[in-house]
Amino acid sequence: MVLNGSCMCGGVQYAVQAEEYMSALCHCTDCQKVPSPSHPIPDLISSPKQNAHVAQWTGGAFTSNAVVPRTSFKVTKGTCTSYDAKGASGKINKHFFCPTCGSGIYTELEIMPDMTCVKAGTLDNKGTELNGKIDVELYVKDRTGYLSAVEGAKQAQTME
Ligand SMILES: [Zn+2]
Ligand SMILES: [Zn+2]
Repeated sequence: MVLNGSCMCGGVQYAVQAEEYMSALCHCTDCQKVPSPSHPIPDLISSPKQNAHVAQWTGGAFTSNAVVPRTSFKVTKGTCTSYDAKGASGKINKHFFCPTCGSGIYTELEIMPDMTCVKAGTLDNKGTELNGKIDVELYVKDRTGYLSAVEGAKQAQTME
């Protein structure tokens, strides 16, 4: 199975070669946003390449993710910019986004070195639907009040 995806402007494209994946909604505050330069949070570490250029991550209430083996994920067009945020664990969550349009495309978590969290909103061909099945919801303690639990999804207070 090959999943294809792209950012809003089409400058970045990627492909995932995976037989299956775990679908996860994450409600953590990092997924809701990464601070813009006018609202810096000292706790966040920016990578030296792009310290003057920090994208807003989603601006949404949660992220939807296809969690795939890291080796199965390849950027096939363009190059993402990345931003290192320190997660609740103290480990680095590396956010990759399109330098042109700012679409958040994937995350590499230091605590999950073998996996890549593909932001499902960037999947083409209705991949965003995640086949209609959510396996797990993460950080439900931070879930916004107007959302309720997805039926059948494991409910995790934090990462587990
Ligand atoms: Zn783009
Ligand atoms: Zn999150």
